[in-house]
Amino acid sequence: MSSVESALLALPNDQDATGRDFGIEETTALDAVLASGTLTSTKGTFVKRFEGDFASYVGAAHAIACASGSAAVHTALAALDLEPGDEVITTGITDMGAIAPILYQAAIPVFADVDPRTCNVTAATIEAALSQRTRAIVVTHLFGNPCEMDAILALARAHNIPVIEDAAQAFGARYRGRHVGTLGTIGCFSLQQGKHITCGEGGIVVTDDPALARRIRLFVNKGWPYGESQPDHEFLALNYRMSELQGAVALAQLGKLDRHVEIRRERAHDLTLALRDLAGIATPTIYDGAEHSYWKYALRLDPAVFPEGPTGFARALTDRNVASVPRYIAKPAFLCAVFQQRRTFGHSAFPLTLARPEALDYRIERFPGTAEGLAHILVLPINERYELEHVAYVADAVHAAAATLRSAHA
Ligand SMILES: *Cc1c(COP(=O)(O)O)cnc(C)c1O
Repeated sequence: MSSVESALLALPNDQDATGRDFGIEETTALDAVLASGTLTSTKGTFVKRFEGDFASYVGAAHAIACASGSAAVHTALAALDLEPGDEVITTGITDMGAIAPILYQAAIPVFADVDPRTCNVTAATIEAALSQRTRAIVVTHLFGNPCEMDAILALARAHNIPVIEDAAQAFGARYRGRHVGTLGTIGCFSLQQGKHITCGEGGIVVTDDPALARRIRLFVNKGWPYGESQPDHEFLALNYRMSELQGAVALAQLGKLDRHVEIRRERAHDLTLALRDLAGIATPTIYDGAEHSYWKYALRLDPAVFPEGPTGFARALTDRNVASVPRYIAKPAFLCAVFQQRRTFGHSAFPLTLARPEALDYRIERFPGTAEGLAHILVLPINERYELEHVAYVADAVHAAAATLRSAHA
């Protein structure tokens, strides 16, 4: 362990070139877009090619690119044409970009609890959040670790409620052999800087349903059906288009996605082998039939062994130059000001004014899995630029931090 302290290693960082994979493929595509002079996807070819290739890649009938992962979730919800006050079940442990769109569509986010081992929603936690007003379920495959979809889809089918899969963190992840994002009614992905593939900002929405696909495309295009006869702005919608510049990079990145996922899996596997026998630390729990694609590598710490919790553990790792994220998010979404102080549209609190009181009961006691999951989770970075030495370095750092913390209260 002493070698760790003597030589600090800089880990590949997904916020800059060290942890990203851009090269001649991206620059060639960008040059072609600029040479064409067409930067809008309404006239260009790169976003269309990205959409076609992505649909084939995941095995969906339709794929529609958009401006961000948040836009993707917004678009998916808008395609379902919810009524104001309709309830959408979601999770408190996700990106706010997956929750804000529910409010923008005048619907009520109803938070399901999670399995503390994975921080994913389950059929049981979703069932407990169902009401007569539930019109959609959004599941997040957190960190690239698929939710237990068989049970979730069976529940949704029994109640005839569509499932939106937020696969923003789960490119390349599969469940019973199928890409996540294609199991439910609509799937959403993000191409933001830190995801498995990126064009800076971007998103893509997939579905097998042609009528939903049309509404998705219209919502990204101000409600305007390009290419159809007698077009009209058919309904309230935004400009959520991806530009050709983003499309060029996204297309080049898509060609590298399988390799990115393979490397992440191999590195994560090595990390699991190196950490699995460490007392007080649990490596990722993966459900039967699921294939994790490791956007991040999340550990669970046993509070009996590490009473200082993930925050103390993260501090010990920082001393070894490993930037981990204790708790993943500081607090569940429903404890943020937007919900606690109902900061939505002016002082109206709309659409929360339409909600059942129970749907607005954000006391943490109602979410024991969420509280426990966040209290114990430590998120380690990983990306496709990790080499074996980086994995060994992180594993050594975790072992050393664990030894230091254990001896501190032995
Ligand atoms: C990143 C992310 C989003 C939002 O995507 P943006 O491209 O940042 O808008 C939504 N949901 C999840 C689970 C994410 O990780």
